[in-house]
Amino acid sequence: MTISKQTIDELVALVDESRLVGDLSSMVSVPSVNPFDEPVTEECREQEFAESYLQHMNGVGLDTFKRDVADGRPNVFGRRHGSGEGPTVMLAGHLDTVGVEDYVDPFNPVVSNRKLYGRGSCDMKAALAAYIEVGRILDHAGLTLKGDLLIAGVADEEHMMLGSKDVSENGPIPDFAIVGEPTELEVCHAHKGQLCMHIKTFGKASHSSVPENGINAINHMADVIKSLGQYGDDLLARPAHPVCGHGKVTPCVINGGSISSSVPDYCELEVDRRTLAGESLESVIEEYRQLLDSLKNSVPNFDYEIGPHTLNNLPLDTPADSSVVTSIAEAYQHVLGKPAPVGAFPASTDAPHFLCPAVICGPGSINQAHTLDEYVSIDELCASARIYLRTVLNMIS
Ligand SMILES: [Zn+2]
Repeated sequence: MTISKQTIDELVALVDESRLVGDLSSMVSVPSVNPFDEPVTEECREQEFAESYLQHMNGVGLDTFKRDVADGRPNVFGRRHGSGEGPTVMLAGHLDTVGVEDYVDPFNPVVSNRKLYGRGSCDMKAALAAYIEVGRILDHAGLTLKGDLLIAGVADEEHMMLGSKDVSENGPIPDFAIVGEPTELEVCHAHKGQLCMHIKTFGKASHSSVPENGINAINHMADVIKSLGQYGDDLLARPAHPVCGHGKVTPCVINGGSISSSVPDYCELEVDRRTLAGESLESVIEEYRQLLDSLKNSVPNFDYEIGPHTLNNLPLDTPADSSVVTSIAEAYQHVLGKPAPVGAFPASTDAPHFLCPAVICGPGSINQAHTLDEYVSIDELCASARIYLRTVLNMIS
């Protein structure tokens, strides 16, 4: 059915602060720290949190399902079926949080000064709570909309993004996605990708009293780092993306040599590359190869290897005039009474892995995410639920 503007206003007015704060508090109190390849600790209860989120979705009448993306690490989904005449809009968020080392009482949600404190409050259980409120209001209204509302809680965003990458492979692929990472409700329709790659140089060991008998892999890596500096300058000379700016390259981790009396025969560098739409794993490897081949031609005995890559998160480049971007910007304007700021998100997210036009817009600030004093503004939490509900109703009713 098509619903009137007045009905939309009435439904949006039902968003309830105390329910949102209650839901978010209960979510913060279930630790879901990402294990990051380390031994699992008491706080790594992502699966338990996933199950509880599934129960939240069940509780608001969604048709739920789940799929493990790794051992004991499920993605969970809830669907509110429409009549099949409209698009499927997915509200997606990650279930995991970063760690809590040195964080005092991270899982005891505290409300103070119109803020809710605790690990995951802003990144990004606030959005997950807002999605539940959207589902709840639609459930109470009992309307059959044209399209489907799909809510997704995905695993492992903070590390390898296994959850969203599994959605790329195994679905469900929606028509549009909204990802409520903390943007202070700015509408972000693009971000860079992140590609982490190893580069290795090889030399020949010798006693360091006679270094001329060896080939120093660290010296060769110094040449690589210098070339990467030039490559970084070249990236800045290329045309900028309208909202993301330029691609970047940064040497981040280096290892080489074993003892000081030996010329090192091996050195390894991990390079972080922030990519723009149109760049890929293959195109970046090709650029590294050109740079390293040119060293091979100019530096005696230079020997290298590229790979493996340790991370490949895609860039997001949803057109600013895509209906998911314009709908959420309109909803922002309606709820907050001012034009929505529109731009790029600074970090990479799950959004491009959903393989559809996607936008990032959520409560909380990236400045509070990952800190030892994480919080979300309760006003933004409530506004986000209103914005999501209005956007969903505009897109699927
Ligand atoms: Zn996040």
